[in-house]
Amino acid sequence: MLNIILMGPPGAGKGTQAKRIIDGFNLPHISTGDMFREAIAAGTPLGLEAKAIIERGDLVPDEITIGLVKERLSKDDCKDGYLLDGFPRTIPQAEALKAMGPEIGRPVNLVIDITVPDEVLIERIAGRRVCPKCGASYHVKNMKPKAEGVCDRCGGELVHRKDDNEESFIVRLENYYTSTQPLVDFYKKEGLYHHFDGMVGYEPLYEAICELLKEHR
Ligand code: ADP
Ligand code: ZN
Repeated sequence: MLNIILMGPPGAGKGTQAKRIIDGFNLPHISTGDMFREAIAAGTPLGLEAKAIIERGDLVPDEITIGLVKERLSKDDCKDGYLLDGFPRTIPQAEALKAMGPEIGRPVNLVIDITVPDEVLIERIAGRRVCPKCGASYHVKNMKPKAEGVCDRCGGELVHRKDDNEESFIVRLENYYTSTQPLVDFYKKEGLYHHFDGMVGYEPLYEAICELLKEHR
């Protein structure tokens, strides 16, 4: 069973690997960031509440995020495995997930952490362009789409995310170190933690992750 958490700082390459993993292993992709962005685009009450928080780089309150994930993980398509991307991001979220896992019969069994040095993260985030339709990401220099401004996967129009500016990035990185980094020890204690170097390149990184996933499939 592949009940996976994908973690790492903003810009580590989670989204890119997530797309590869869900296609390669046929898993539902549960990205809290995508869920919030969809809610913002649709103008739902959740979106209205989350918009300003996300744009300045802060974390959406735990109660809201936990409720959203619990509802999503309980859906039928998650019964044969799932990929959580961007959740948990705090110790209370990890505790809540630990409690809900057995409750819904879907406990996490693998944690994949991708790390990259800070100076590389800022460079990646500054040049990042994303597809709002399918969530694919590109980089103006390092990972150009075939046609400028157009998504290779779905033809959507690429955008620069509002929280991908330097000011919000610094807030996101600080939040990562204070709130999310402690999850490393949390999951090491649980015996679920696997570290990957995000500097090896997208393809070798995916191959390394594949090796691990095949062992647990
Ligand atoms: P990143 O590129 O930083 O990994 P995401 O798309 O995963 O971005 O998330 C974008 C934003 O959505 C975060 O900066 C945060 O404001 C909010 N968010 C996403 N997941 C969570 C979470 N688990 N807890 C709180 N806030 C979250
Ligand atoms: Zn797309």
